[in-house]
Amino acid sequence: HGVDKYCVFGNPIAHSKSPDIHAAFAAATEQRLTYEKRLAPLDGFAQAVHAFIAEGGKGANVTVPFKLEAYRLAGALTVRAQAAGAVNTLLFDEYGITGDNTDGAGLVADITVNAGVPIAGKRVLLLGAGGAARGAVLPILEHRPAALAIANRTVATAEALVQQFAPLGGEGVVSASGFDGVDGSFDIVINATSASLQADLPPVSPSVFHQGTLALDMMYGKEPTVFMRFAASHGASVRDGLGMLVEQAAEAFHGWRGVRPRTAEVLANLR
Ligand code: NDP
Repeated sequence: HGVDKYCVFGNPIAHSKSPDIHAAFAAATEQRLTYEKRLAPLDGFAQAVHAFIAEGGKGANVTVPFKLEAYRLAGALTVRAQAAGAVNTLLFDEYGITGDNTDGAGLVADITVNAGVPIAGKRVLLLGAGGAARGAVLPILEHRPAALAIANRTVATAEALVQQFAPLGGEGVVSASGFDGVDGSFDIVINATSASLQADLPPVSPSVFHQGTLALDMMYGKEPTVFMRFAASHGASVRDGLGMLVEQAAEAFHGWRGVRPRTAEVLANLR
């Protein structure tokens, strides 16, 4: 009987914080496991996963650029992975490979628990319609917002999300537009574009913010992003994506180990 093995697959992967987060969870919950980084070749994700399973791997996280491939590789999918069309968490057992997506649940936990901002009855603006945005829609709708506006550079992609999710959100709750077509102000604004990676800003009007809007950028790093600075200068309180990262990890850990780790101390230590 060895110690249960987990890892995170990505390319690049050197700067992943996931090993530190899961090591802290394991220590706090007295779970015996190892969790390592694995650089998967861009054309060799499936082989890397099968090699890890052959070594006795019990589960893995998946990050850029493999979340769609992980979705296709999984023999079974959770409802939220199916809805997201992407997988960030794999579970390996006697039934095969199960794919889950904990990113959206992590986002919602960070907003409602860590930031203490309820989503129920609120007006929510989601910027972006890529993998991270898609994973966020169902978990947000489960909290019954008054409105969920999805704005994207490529409007058709946002409209496709409305097609998919409007029946789950209720009459008139989910809508789509380009960045310049966003109407009114919002209680919660989430930047799920990758614009911050290029120090770029999704071109939304500052009137989407009001005093006390919660503005969250899914990106994280040493410095506040351009989006966070823009939102703060128009009266919003701002958060980066680090809380989301820790919460999606906690959700994955719970799926693997059946134990829910506390996150506050891990998040504080990462900061
Ligand atoms: P995708 O590549 O799937 O989607 C990118 C999105 O950003 C698309 O909607 C795209 O629009 C838009 N976009 C890209 N560049 C620009 C730009 N210059 N201006 C405006 N819009 C732009 O990426 P992901 O959804 O996987 O990731 C999005 C972000 O979320 C990344 O920064 C990622 O690091 C972060 N993330 C953080 C997590 C966390 O735990 N904190 C977890 C997952 C993701 P278009 O459709 O027009 O191309």
